Amino acid sequence: GVKKREVNVLVVGLNNSGKSTVVNKFKNEDERIAEIVPTVGFSVEKFENQHLAFTAFDMSGHGRYRDLWEHYYKDCNGVIFVIDSSDRLRLVVVKEELDLLLQHPDICNRRLPMLFFANKMDSKEALSSVKIAAALGLDKIMDKPWHISASNALTGEGLQEGVEWLTQQIR
Ligand code: GDP
Repeated sequence: GVKKREVNVLVVGLNNSGKSTVVNKFKNEDERIAEIVPTVGFSVEKFENQHLAFTAFDMSGHGRYRDLWEHYYKDCNGVIFVIDSSDRLRLVVVKEELDLLLQHPDICNRRLPMLFFANKMDSKEALSSVKIAAALGLDKIMDKPWHISASNALTGEGLQEGVEWLTQQIR
């Protein structure tokens, strides 16, 4: 038969940005999320649907588990970066993490598609995706296709459009 091509999507972002909620929206009833806890304080969520394998983790804990999460960079084919657009205080931390991700040896020299979700668009405090893109300096990303979608992971608004863009870029 035809061998199914593995497409690994890395879902990253700070804790509480909405990663689990996003990932759960792409899960069918019969697909369990396997939660792998390699060490106390760092957890990874994984699941596969027919099209994609998702791996999600928090970029937090003051970088204590950085080595553990960076280990997933090599095998990914695309990145979903989830941002809480209502968390203005931590936007600078988001930018720091994004810059570190983009500079990483397993990421920096690859044409890796990057999808950004400006999540929690329903919140009164939410910044627009245009403002988030400006705050993160996305226009400086020249060597990778990128796209930003405002999303509401609770209702699923914006998610499908974003992931369709991502899968088209990967194929
Ligand atoms: P994670 O730590 O990045 O995996 O974040 P979670 O998926 O656990 O979400 C953190 C909190 O934000 C939960 O209480 C979610 O219900 C909530 N949340 C996630 N997405 C949205 C959204 O789009 N809008 C609103 N208002 N809340 C959201």
